[in-house]
Amino acid sequence: SKVVKSLKYSKHGEPVEVIELVEDQLKNPKEYEVLVKVLAAPINPADINTIQGKYPVKPTFPAVGGNECVAEVISVGKNVSKLTTGQHVIPFTTGLGTWTTHAIFAEEDLMPVSNKIGLAEAATLTVNPCTAYRMLKDFVELSPGDCVIQNGANSAVGQAVHQLCKSWDIKSVGIVRNRPDIAELKKYLKSLGATEVLTEEEIRASTMFKEKQLPRPRLAFNCVGGKSATEISRHLADKGVMVTYGGMSREPVVASTAALIFKDIAFHGFWMTRWSKENYNSSQRTHMFSELCDLIEQGKFVAPVHEMVPLQKFKDAVAAALDFKGFAGK
Ligand code: NDP
Repeated sequence: SKVVKSLKYSKHGEPVEVIELVEDQLKNPKEYEVLVKVLAAPINPADINTIQGKYPVKPTFPAVGGNECVAEVISVGKNVSKLTTGQHVIPFTTGLGTWTTHAIFAEEDLMPVSNKIGLAEAATLTVNPCTAYRMLKDFVELSPGDCVIQNGANSAVGQAVHQLCKSWDIKSVGIVRNRPDIAELKKYLKSLGATEVLTEEEIRASTMFKEKQLPRPRLAFNCVGGKSATEISRHLADKGVMVTYGGMSREPVVASTAALIFKDIAFHGFWMTRWSKENYNSSQRTHMFSELCDLIEQGKFVAPVHEMVPLQKFKDAVAAALDFKGFAGK
């Protein structure tokens, strides 16, 4: 029998301290199970927070890290009807534990994807692109030519937002932190579809919406909090909506009283995990996955800037993820 290597942890803490590369014997899939070989799996901020014990989802120990992957079906149990050997699959649910060479999953927890889709795109499809998709669809009814604004524009979600906006003919303004290679980053985000990219300092002083004759954004996405969030909400049109989906600065969101009263701005939160649970087998969810897969196949949607690291070098990968500046000449 074969050996499976997995990244497991049995207590909360810093990933490099609590994660171990563990070897187990590979079993055979039961009736409704599928044996898969994991081809690629990403590290999301939520994976790190889950290991640290700072995420509202608590695994049972020992747990295998990771929530996303793309895997190849190696063999199927005798009652499996929808999946076949050689097919590529991605998780249909969260918490499967994907940082492993092989795994046995229930058929119903997997979703097939075309083998034509790139490994990086498939492995990162279910969290960030879906978050961008839902936030663009579910809060404000946007029409072609409308504008959205977001901070953390170089984040994986941010890159997805710019690409979807381009496909749907929506203008998007991205805000990023300043850095030495800022010109290169701006160019990259514009190549993905951003209409304008400004630093936090530039947007504070900017009269850009007037100068460039851009419409005031009707929708803002915030993954930073603190001053950055207040600043982007300041640019919203009357009755605009700001959706907070992350808190990278760990600072609270401060809403301007005047913006609430005189501009009737609304503040919302969004959590993909909740949406997926509440819409688990919905046609909306199926439609979203197929629309995203179509965009990927057409070359209109690419994975975020990334680096592939072998499982054994997980410490390097985690360190890089914690330290990642989004775009540093990679
Ligand atoms: P990435 O790791 O790809 O990007 C992180 C982003 O945060 C980068 O743009 C980075 O900018 C920025 N950032 C980090 N620290 C700070 C700081 N102190 N101040 C300002 N900006 C900062 O992340 P993801 O796209 O995967 O996720 C982004 C956020 O969204 C995370 O908080 C994540 O948990 C959350 N998220 C939430 C979801 C939901 O359902 N609510 C779903 C998916 C993600 P820089 O390059 O300048 O460091």
